[in-house]
Amino acid sequence: MKRGKIRGIITKVITGMLLVLTLVTSSFTCKVWARGGVPVYQLQESSIVYKVNQKRVLLDMAHADTALDKGCSYGEYNERDIANKITLKVKQLLEAEGIDVELTRNEGETISIAERVRLANSDNYDYYISIHINSSGTENQGTGVEAYSCAGWSLSNKIIKELQKEFNYKNRGIYESGFYNKRINNRSTLLEIGFLNNEYDRNNLVNHQTEYANAIARGIIEQLRSE
Ligand SMILES: [Zn+2]
Repeated sequence: MKRGKIRGIITKVITGMLLVLTLVTSSFTCKVWARGGVPVYQLQESSIVYKVNQKRVLLDMAHADTALDKGCSYGEYNERDIANKITLKVKQLLEAEGIDVELTRNEGETISIAERVRLANSDNYDYYISIHINSSGTENQGTGVEAYSCAGWSLSNKIIKELQKEFNYKNRGIYESGFYNKRINNRSTLLEIGFLNNEYDRNNLVNHQTEYANAIARGIIEQLRSE
C-alpha cells in the first residue's frame, strides 16, 4: 500500500473517532443540563440516550371523559381516572428522559376507536401504549397484570416484568385479542395493570401511582434501549 493511501485511511479513522466523540459528548451535556447539572447517566451510556431520544411514543388516555365511558368501577373509584393519572405520570417520566411523547387525547376530551387506530398507525410514532385496569366477575378473584398486543410482545413483556418486580404481581400473560389494537400495525400494547375489585391491586392502584408510573416507564425505556 502506498504511503499516501495509508495517510488517507488514518485521517478518515481519526475524523470518524472525533465525530463519534462529539455526538457522545453533546448528548451527555444535554442530559446533564436538562437535570440542572446533576449527571443522570454515566458517560459510557450517553450514546444510548442519544438513540432513545430519537423515539416517539404515543400514550393512549384510555376510555373517555364522559359519564358513560369510565371503564370499570369499584365504589368511589373508576378505571378511567386512575389509569389516566398513571398515564400522565408515565408521560412526565419519559419526557424527563428526552423522549418525545404525545397523548391520543387531552383530559376532558373524547376520541373514537377509529381515531385511536388511525393515530397509532401513523408513521409519526414508534410505540403505542394504552393503559387500562381490569375487573373480575367476583371480588378478589382476579389479580395481576396482562397485556394485549399485535406485534409488541417484547414491549409488553418488559413492562409486565417491571410491574412484577415492583408489586410482586402475577404475570397473567400476553394475548393477541380482538381488541382494537389488533388493527394497529406498529408496535403496540394494551396493558391491564391490575384489578380494581381486588383489595391488594386496588390499594396499589390508588396509593402507589408513582411506583406504577415508574415501573411502566422503566419497561418502555428498556425496550427503546434494546433497539
Ligand atoms: Zn379499559
